[in-house]
Amino acid sequence: MVDLVIPPELRPVDGRFGSGPSKIRPAQLDYLVATGQSVLGTSHRQAPVKRLVAEIRERLAVFFDLPQGYEVILGMGGSTTFWDVAAFSLVRERAAHAVFGEFTAKFAAATGGAPWLREPLVVEAPAGSVALLGPAEVDVYATAHNETSTGAASPIQRPAANGLFVVDATSAAAGMAIDVAETDVYYFAPQKALASDGGLWIALMSPAALERTAEIAASDRYIPASLSLQTAVDNSRLEQTLNTPALATLALLLDQLRWLDALGGLTGAAARTAESSGRLYAWADASPYAEPFVSEPGLRSPVVGTIDFGEQVDAKALAAALRANGIVDTEPYRKLGRNQLRIGMYPAVDPDDVSALTACIDYAVERL
Ligand SMILES: *Cc1c(COP(=O)(O)O)cnc(C)c1O
Repeated sequence: MVDLVIPPELRPVDGRFGSGPSKIRPAQLDYLVATGQSVLGTSHRQAPVKRLVAEIRERLAVFFDLPQGYEVILGMGGSTTFWDVAAFSLVRERAAHAVFGEFTAKFAAATGGAPWLREPLVVEAPAGSVALLGPAEVDVYATAHNETSTGAASPIQRPAANGLFVVDATSAAAGMAIDVAETDVYYFAPQKALASDGGLWIALMSPAALERTAEIAASDRYIPASLSLQTAVDNSRLEQTLNTPALATLALLLDQLRWLDALGGLTGAAARTAESSGRLYAWADASPYAEPFVSEPGLRSPVVGTIDFGEQVDAKALAAALRANGIVDTEPYRKLGRNQLRIGMYPAVDPDDVSALTACIDYAVERL
């Protein structure tokens, strides 16, 4: 069945539907080549790279409409590293975690494994739904805006008056509307909705989060330099990172931020992902053999769509047939273990390509 040939005229123009790393627009690669001449292979302590970092920080501040006193902080290592950064530098004693998929579980495991912290409070919900936090005796509340492993998106509202609200926006940031004032730390990595490459983490931090960071840095807690948030704050304010950043990741990110601005900023980006995901879910709702995995329509992610298939369809074979036709990374999150496809619909993805994808799925299912 992998021999199935989908007619070229049915196929999307770009077949990349990964949930991260995700589609990078060809024009970004052109920019990378052009800017590479002056930036790649040069010192990150000199003006050209610092200007790149400064423009990224400025554009992110405008794009997310940062409230007074919030700062854009960045460091090396991606969102996974940020969990360790948070365990060292943001949690004073105890965190509460909303766990509703693999990524939220991993952050809970990070604070749970830290011997200097108390056992975290974990509020769990089954995959495909969302766990909500309420007031508790904790100093950090953690959740994810979008659970990339399940395609469930959480409402983002402060759970309590006490504590810092720390939100994993790795796949949501730049693809979903957000009121950053509801959060203290809205953190992400650039290889998802921001269409860049991996290796960086970026955190939008409130004055309360900056204050907490300084407080813990001044305490007698041992914090490795590469995981110190205060060190990252100090470096970011100088438009640099503690150690060498991936310059290509920064350049691709900057070009995507400029493109997103031309699209109408976050409002335009969110409208585009809503258009793409609206088409996917409408197709699945109408299909005799497919349905959205997230049963509650209000929780369905606009950026990562998970579609369950009836037993008459072998989703694994379907994903393989799509892959053989240049439509890649529609496989579900490996540990979820469902008869499912997962479709990344970040702003870089053309809504018409999502429509083409659903036509290709119909074509393949009829013939498998
Ligand atoms: C991809 C992802 C991560 C991990 O990001 P890395 O940069 O690979 O560490 C964490 N959280 C969520 C919600 C993600 O989608």
